[in-house]
Amino acid sequence: MHFSELTTLDDLAKIYPQHILERFPIAGKGPFNDMDDQQWNSWTWQQKARLTNLEGLAKVIDLTDEITNDFNDCDQLFNMAITPYYANLMDRSDPNCPIRLQGIPKKEELTVLDTDMEDPLAEERDMPVPGVTHRYPDRVLFYITHNCPVYCRHCTRKRKVADPTTTAASKQIDVGLEYISSNPQIRDVIISGGDPLSLNNKRLDYILGRLRQIPHIEVIRLGTRNLVTLPQRIDDEFLTVLQKHQPIHINTHFNHPKEMTRETLFAASKIAHSGATMGNQTVLLKGVNDDPAVMKELCHKLLLMRIRPYYIFQCDQSKGISHFRTPIQTGIKIIESLRGHTSGLAVPHYVIDAPGGGGKIPISPEYIVDEQEDKVVLRNFQREQYTYYLPKKD
Ligand SMILES: *Cc1c(COP(=O)(O)O)cnc(C)c1O
Ligand code: SF4
Repeated sequence: MHFSELTTLDDLAKIYPQHILERFPIAGKGPFNDMDDQQWNSWTWQQKARLTNLEGLAKVIDLTDEITNDFNDCDQLFNMAITPYYANLMDRSDPNCPIRLQGIPKKEELTVLDTDMEDPLAEERDMPVPGVTHRYPDRVLFYITHNCPVYCRHCTRKRKVADPTTTAASKQIDVGLEYISSNPQIRDVIISGGDPLSLNNKRLDYILGRLRQIPHIEVIRLGTRNLVTLPQRIDDEFLTVLQKHQPIHINTHFNHPKEMTRETLFAASKIAHSGATMGNQTVLLKGVNDDPAVMKELCHKLLLMRIRPYYIFQCDQSKGISHFRTPIQTGIKIIESLRGHTSGLAVPHYVIDAPGGGGKIPISPEYIVDEQEDKVVLRNFQREQYTYYLPKKD
């Protein structure tokens, strides 16, 4: 099936059986029911209609004094912006709703620990030219915008995301492309931001086209949360652009099964039918997904969407997000609960992005119980022990 044959949610029944569709409830329009479908499905309308104040929030949740005060205290520091689509996923009355925790300001954001940093991953230090972080020899992060449909309260790049004064100008993008093209050791470009899908299809076509003309570039990845916060963004014009510049890998950012609606399944299916592959990066967030059962459901649903779980990130030491951080043990327990207990395909790598710019370091439960000259003793997912004899040294 060509992606353009998927025009309404009903078309998904041509691809998936009913019992799979039922795992992805239709989000619909909720309190925005007076919008006509054409408007609702327009990503530019969703962008323009983002909720940015208390009046907007009151459409989707019951305001309390606490919410009002927290909003007034925090909004200046890191703007609130939530697409109507994503806002409608919020629980009207439950302050612990995972969607609310990710989108609505809380006074805890004002707490700054001694160990918090503006730029914990030293992304600015490892910038040979503005807008490119070059840390690993063969791959770079390439920032092309600072805008996102929803500003996640846990964003690790709060220092620049949502700040219009730091938006990458066209000139900066060209400087980045020049850098990439004049460094033949770079074979992998991760287009990031902000959210690169904030740019229009024509700009993306230009950037992807320029990258594809560079003979040493093999892998192009697009890191985007639009699939989660604005699935309407995945329009046919964008998919035509994707198809022009294959191979492309899309990296999404789902954090909770509640974000996985029929609408997101629709967008992911269209991407799958365009031929791009998809992976997911989750941030381990206290109160949102720091629970093995939640993570397992998330990873299972990702596979149903043809998205491979790729990373679980330990939450970074960025300023104002310490209330989201968990002990390392929480992440280890999650991996322990997955490995062996479910499809290997559903098990992501749990990593800490090393503070100071050391790169991603994998953290794993310990499976080696004892190591001797001639053998190692291992334990499996059920904690039974097995001995592996090493080859004789010659
Ligand atoms: C995460 C990251 C990459 C990509 O790392 P992979 O492990 O290849 O996904 C590249 N550069 C920087 C600076 C990064 O933070
Ligand atoms: S989409 Fe990504 S870059 Fe944008 S606010 Fe969320 S975490 Fe930050």
